[in-house]
Amino acid sequence: MLSRTLLAAARSPKMRGMITGVPLTRRVVDRFVAGDNLDQASLVIGDLVEEGLAVTVDRLGEDTLSAADAAATRDAYLEMLKRFSDLGIAHRTEVSLKLSALGQKLPKDAEKIALENAIAIAEAARDAGTTMTLDMEDHTTVDATLGALRELRGDFPWVGVAIQAALFRTEGDITDLATAGSRVRLVKGAYMEPASVAHQEKHEVDKAYVRAMKTLMRSSAYPMIASHDQRMIDIAHAMVAETGRAQDSHEFQMLHGIRTTEQHALVADGDTMRVYVPFGDDWYGYFMRRLAERPANVMFFLNSLVKR
Ligand code: FAD
Repeated sequence: MLSRTLLAAARSPKMRGMITGVPLTRRVVDRFVAGDNLDQASLVIGDLVEEGLAVTVDRLGEDTLSAADAAATRDAYLEMLKRFSDLGIAHRTEVSLKLSALGQKLPKDAEKIALENAIAIAEAARDAGTTMTLDMEDHTTVDATLGALRELRGDFPWVGVAIQAALFRTEGDITDLATAGSRVRLVKGAYMEPASVAHQEKHEVDKAYVRAMKTLMRSSAYPMIASHDQRMIDIAHAMVAETGRAQDSHEFQMLHGIRTTEQHALVADGDTMRVYVPFGDDWYGYFMRRLAERPANVMFFLNSLVKR
């Protein structure tokens, strides 16, 4: 119930104004977001890479409604990739993008503009010697995102995509995507979805996650197991043992600031562990989805306001 309220608030401009207007919210946001700008984020990313972690970087922003803003987002990614290359960390630092930040929701030529912007970023990623992954947003965007993925993979076969176990359609999508080398980030799903398209109960989402993981692990795809759920990580390890997959044929992913001890434990065991690092001042939607995932985060947030 609380999760659904928070996810609804994540889409509310009125709530956005109220929550971002509280000065001390920032202290809690800092737990999940690596700074407002590229300079601050680069310091965090540099430290993570030094600690043996791989990184995927998200410049926060979504639902862009002007072509100029979409182009500015694209340019910010180009600047980021150049910076990572100059810093010598690009081989461990890929980028994650939301097509809605690149134009997917514009009133005119939306898919064309989003794809052109994504192609420019893919070219820069290739030149920097790294990869990129398309985040998945709510269910209304899945067809367009998978369409863009198909286009991108023509020239950039290493472009990855996030797939949400919560959606009923995922079983079919995963089967289509389980091809040689296909980089698929399996997530549970962070958006509030109607019962007509998605599992509503957590145990159903978990079972769907395991089924999708099985399809990926038994294929020659490159599964990216993106979960903080220890049971999912243990099941992934059991499937690796069962299928005899090499340790470099898949990876684990977690969000910045969540289960950091486990992140390092996976690295110590020889697994590839990639941390999703968001940065930027448009943090509201991302932050609210993180609160919705765990009621304890809401208490942490409220306590920090009370203790000021
Ligand atoms: P859960 O069952 O939700 O959580 C398991 C345990 O993990 C919890 O008990 C808790 O201990 C810990 N935990 C989980 N979330 C939090 C939190 N916010 N704060 C503190 N502890 C927490 N979703 C999309 O819809 N599209 C995407 O493109 C996308 N990309 C992602 C990329 C990465 C690398 C990751 C890790 C997640 C991404 N997600 C994305 C979010 C995902 O869909 C889930 O909402 C989120 O990961 C929580 O699910 P879980 O698998 O961790 O399991």
